[in-house]
Amino acid sequence: MANAILVLNAGSSSIKFTIFDHEAGNLHVRYEGQIEGIGTKPHFVAYADAGQPIHETSWANPPLGRGHAYALERLAAWLDPLLPEEGLIGVGHRVVHGGTRFSAPMRLDEALLHELEAFVSLAPLHQPANLAGIAAAMDFLPGVPNVACFDTAFHRTHPPVADRFAIPYDLYDEGVRRYGFHGLSYEYIAQALPTCAPKLAEGRVVVAHLGNGASMCALKAGRSHDSTMGFTALDGLPMGTRCGQIDPGVLIYLMQEKGMGAKQIEDLLYKRSGLLGLSGVSNDMRTLAASNDPRAADALDYFVYRIIRETGALAASLGGLDGFVFTAGIGENAANIRARVCEGLGWLGLQCDPAANAQHGPRISPPDSPVDVWVIPTDEARMIALHTLRVLV
Ligand code: ADP
Repeated sequence: MANAILVLNAGSSSIKFTIFDHEAGNLHVRYEGQIEGIGTKPHFVAYADAGQPIHETSWANPPLGRGHAYALERLAAWLDPLLPEEGLIGVGHRVVHGGTRFSAPMRLDEALLHELEAFVSLAPLHQPANLAGIAAAMDFLPGVPNVACFDTAFHRTHPPVADRFAIPYDLYDEGVRRYGFHGLSYEYIAQALPTCAPKLAEGRVVVAHLGNGASMCALKAGRSHDSTMGFTALDGLPMGTRCGQIDPGVLIYLMQEKGMGAKQIEDLLYKRSGLLGLSGVSNDMRTLAASNDPRAADALDYFVYRIIRETGALAASLGGLDGFVFTAGIGENAANIRARVCEGLGWLGLQCDPAANAQHGPRISPPDSPVDVWVIPTDEARMIALHTLRVLV
């Protein structure tokens, strides 16, 4: 193996990792995997680049609060004999929130780690896990530099009007504003466009990141102009279990009429809503697509409807539309959803060639389509590795 970079994406109950080797500016995936069930039943699986599992193990849950640290200790111990003599160039971390201050990846030290704790209240479900992953990497990979890559950073190019809520101004100053998320995914797509669709790279493009988490971003000449996610990763499109856009009056109703507190509302909107809440069947697109339950069909109708509706808004904010990109698990694989979205946006100029769509593109619009439609697989881990290299080398 040449020089290696470890990319970590630490969530509340899982740590996903990718190990890239780096040679002459090229990044190649050497190993990837995840530790799931942190806090309950930890399970570690690692795959070689060809996708075959090469290591699998489980362990008893460590004492409360030590889950991420212990998982990282196990990962570091497994990794150590596989690394080249020079060891790791660095560790790149996905960090969900960089507030308004961090618009680029940063080399981490104790002081920056402490600063990032200030954003925990802005992303209470994700930021603590991200920071626990960083602290554990600092402990178990001593001497290896760490780089924070922020999901909010790519959106710092929004015009100010796109970042505001119409509430008293001092709340905006305090940080209550529309940040936008999935920035590493959008940045990867923006970097890929000049190669795969050079005409679009300078144009007005809506990118739909449709995974378990889902959002859309309006790109103007490769820079983020607006996005559907706002103050939190709850706004915009309906997701696997998150509600997406909702009238804030519903929250007041839940508090006043149902006596619900903040934690209950958080649980409802983050974990029991979206495709799962609407269907009562599943949060997973494949399960819903295979289901005969009419409510599963209703959930898919709502998902498609909101993508179409939000595209209209983002196209208006861009002053027109030249291209549309589907990405992430649903965007890359669900041909039926893509076909329905294109059909609903025919008035805006999207067309879909059924044969190209069935093959997942990469271009799924016919040559004479007024708006070019593409399927481009995203790669957030590679984007983090690229940032880590740029910061450290
Ligand atoms: P995340 O990274 O946000 O957890 P992914 O980008 O992996 O999510 O996307 C997960 C979603 O993609 C799930 O709803 C899953 O059902 C859907 N998906 C994955 N493969 C397919 C497929 N072949 N057809 C339809 N949906 C798919």
